[in-house]
Amino acid sequence: MNRKIIISIALLFVFVYGLLHKDSKREKLSINRSNDWAIALHGGAGEIPPDLDSNLRQSYEQALSSALDIGQEILASGGSAVDAVEQVVRFLEDEPLFNAGRGAVLNERGDFELDASIMDGRDLSCGAVVGIEHAKHPVSAARKVMEKSPHVMMAKYGGELLLDDEKEWAPSDYFFTMERYEQWQRVSEQGTVGLDHWEDGKLGTVGCVAKDSQGNLAAATSTGGLVNKAIGRVGDSAVIGAGTYADNATCAVSCTGKGEEFIRYTAASLVSHLMRYGGRSLEEAAEEVLTHRTGAHSGGMIGVDKDGALLLHYNTSGMFRAAADSSSYRFVGV
Ligand code: ASP
Repeated sequence: MNRKIIISIALLFVFVYGLLHKDSKREKLSINRSNDWAIALHGGAGEIPPDLDSNLRQSYEQALSSALDIGQEILASGGSAVDAVEQVVRFLEDEPLFNAGRGAVLNERGDFELDASIMDGRDLSCGAVVGIEHAKHPVSAARKVMEKSPHVMMAKYGGELLLDDEKEWAPSDYFFTMERYEQWQRVSEQGTVGLDHWEDGKLGTVGCVAKDSQGNLAAATSTGGLVNKAIGRVGDSAVIGAGTYADNATCAVSCTGKGEEFIRYTAASLVSHLMRYGGRSLEEAAEEVLTHRTGAHSGGMIGVDKDGALLLHYNTSGMFRAAADSSSYRFVGV
């Protein structure tokens, strides 16, 4: 009798443990196929509630799908990888559902400080902006740093001043959404700093990687960072090598998750270096970085290698993501 009870309790424990850990299993999608062109994008990785409202889920899927259309059209008509990643990220920055551009999260003072970066795999040219407050599209400010300045990273007005089209400037309230304000109030009342991902299951940092039909790779990432973050805090999205990397010889990568971890391990460039110097595939390299470096529940990354193989990989319960390639493959997932 006692034995039966003990066995039943043990089985119950195993069952409950399984349920609790079901959502934290590592998932990935790798499409190891050579492609003329290929593209992947993300809208943040994190703990997506299984009971996410179906209308909200649909809105996210619709936004991801429209972003994918933009990149797909550019690449299918022979456009460049750099143009594709910039235009996709610009679209996602305009979409208040995501934590980038309009709809970005607020810092501890209730202000916006936006980070973004972009990299061109042809020659390793790159640009990043940090703590931007008035550029509607931080990714385009980052591209200006890459193409119109001798520098690779510029903070605050330094990056914004490169935007010569005044339509690209916005007052601070342009970025404001009531949802983010209420989220910031909740987090600041608790006196914590929150990854946008973990708070109410909302996700947000955006990124895109692409290979074009000329064989060139590019990556871009844009974010509002952490909810209630300290003034001046900078995450991986603005750091070339950490949140963004592209090298025609290996791959293009854009990350999302706990920025401090991705910076510590220079996650995006580590994937490229493991491929180049360690002979790993994109999939093996990403697995190594997300499992053995940045660690459990740290976030995710998207990638494309020099042959056009795609990767969508995360160690959280979900990642807003989408991908397509020239073989007519198309995927949108939450
Ligand atoms: N990686 C971003 C940061 O740390 C946050 C995110 O991906 O949501 O700023």
